[in-house]
Amino acid sequence: MILQVARLGHPVLREKAKPLSIEEILSPETQRLIDDMVETLRERDGAGLAAPQVHCSKKIIVAETREKNPRYPDEPLLKLTVLINPEITKRSREKAEDWEGCLSVPELRGLVPRHREISGLAFDREGRKVEFSAAGFAARVIQHEVDHLAGLVFLDRMRNMRSLAYSGELAKFSEQGPR
Ligand code: ZN
Repeated sequence: MILQVARLGHPVLREKAKPLSIEEILSPETQRLIDDMVETLRERDGAGLAAPQVHCSKKIIVAETREKNPRYPDEPLLKLTVLINPEITKRSREKAEDWEGCLSVPELRGLVPRHREISGLAFDREGRKVEFSAAGFAARVIQHEVDHLAGLVFLDRMRNMRSLAYSGELAKFSEQGPR
């Protein structure tokens, strides 16, 4: 089922999401929620989605980009990742700045600094403990989604709001901007 995405201003986006117990992870409700989040992510051409974005204040994120994602045409493909109770435990000192957008902040893009590499711990949808690590675009997507679980959006991470722009205008006026 495709879910409604909360937009900035909805209080759920500013709440701290709750961790899930193993029983909760394995429950039919959570399994269905994860399926619906993946379906919603694909329908909306996102790269990642966090449960608070679909009005559910729980620590679940999904990420994936498939061939020909029109929102991220130049980025490497990201295989489907489902992380529950994710904790980023290691961050590279080095950061990179790049464009981000968000299904909860429609149309807008901004330059956001993120750690180039991260690793951490989470549970998968079968309730198994997993280690994850990511670099580049994948690391950016995971940091963006984990931020949602803490009630943060990419605007909160921008160093300078002057890069904030509508994607259509960026495509028109900037060589470097996203399409
Ligand atoms: Zn987002």
